[in-house]
Amino acid sequence: MSTIVSDLLRARLDRVRAAAAAAAADAMVIAPGSDLRYLIGGSGSSFERLTCLVLPVAGDPVLVVPKLEAPGYAEVPTDALGVRLATWVDGEDPYRLVAGLLGASTRVAVGDMLPALHVLALRDAVPGAEQVLAGPVLRELRMRKDAAEVAALRTAGAAIDRVHARMAEWLRAGRTEAEVGADIAAAIVAEGHTRAEFVIVGSGPNGASPHHDVSDRVIEAGDVVVVDIGGPVAEGYYSDSTRTYAVGEPRDADVADTYAVLQAAQRAAVDAVAPGVTAEQVDATARDVIAAAGFGEFFIHRTGHGIGLDVHEHPYVVAGNDLVLEPGMAFSVEPGIYRPGRWGARIEDIVVVTETGVEPLNRRPHELVVLPA
Ligand code: ZN
Ligand code: ZN
Ligand code: ZN
Repeated sequence: MSTIVSDLLRARLDRVRAAAAAAAADAMVIAPGSDLRYLIGGSGSSFERLTCLVLPVAGDPVLVVPKLEAPGYAEVPTDALGVRLATWVDGEDPYRLVAGLLGASTRVAVGDMLPALHVLALRDAVPGAEQVLAGPVLRELRMRKDAAEVAALRTAGAAIDRVHARMAEWLRAGRTEAEVGADIAAAIVAEGHTRAEFVIVGSGPNGASPHHDVSDRVIEAGDVVVVDIGGPVAEGYYSDSTRTYAVGEPRDADVADTYAVLQAAQRAAVDAVAPGVTAEQVDATARDVIAAAGFGEFFIHRTGHGIGLDVHEHPYVVAGNDLVLEPGMAFSVEPGIYRPGRWGARIEDIVVVTETGVEPLNRRPHELVVLPA
């Protein structure tokens, strides 16, 4: 790992320590996952054996890891970051090890994704310490992407755009959603992701279920098909983009007019994104356009979610979130209109707030794409 990267990570560790101190925590305990990757540049998987970064606000960070999992952290620049490795072997009590590191801490912020299995064992091992969630502290950092993070999201956005551009190769009448989905998944990897994280192919009535996966339904001529796909690139940052296709001319007569409303709503919401605007204002912008056209009851989810090292993270673009947008915040703008039993449509772009407005990271056309049946 380069010096630039380890400098950046060391600065992150310092910032998160300061933020934890400001939140009156003495230490943080962070499990494998996106938080750990954000802080030290790598993460393995967590099993029943305890792995965690113990990050005191005053003192050196220690990565507690089972000896057999330690090779998974070989890429982490521990020396440059000042992170000490503390390994343990089966038969030892890792909670006593962590208790020793936490010393006289009275308030410990545990990562949101630390398994309850470990949280409760730590509570027993350190009975004098109150446990609070680390998420509120970490999200303040993770929501504000630096230039390298935005560059990784841009790479991911371009990669998923290349997959959507090839949709006519796979999506046609007579194939099942699952067959189309398998081809899309392979293309997600071929176009530059490390894996396909999700592939939604919602054809005909299945398109009315926003989180449909794939099924054995055979796609028919005249179907409207929602394709929502994404995955991580090498840096760990995710793509997530939806386009809606028609296989031949749509059979339902109301598709064109309804889709035009959706397209106007998505466009208006993207255009509304700027520093100083609140997340709920962006949601309301999309929702108002759809409601004004009489489709309000068919837009059944929030307008968007933050994205980064997780597919879904803060900030959420939802009613009630008065968070003021700042440069570097990245999230989806993905209104949908779902007609139960018939068809559905969604348009989703990832956008980044800039100093003056917004940068969309997905550039494919927003029109309903009519493919040959
Ligand atoms: Zn979703
Ligand atoms: Zn999304
Ligand atoms: Zn999506």
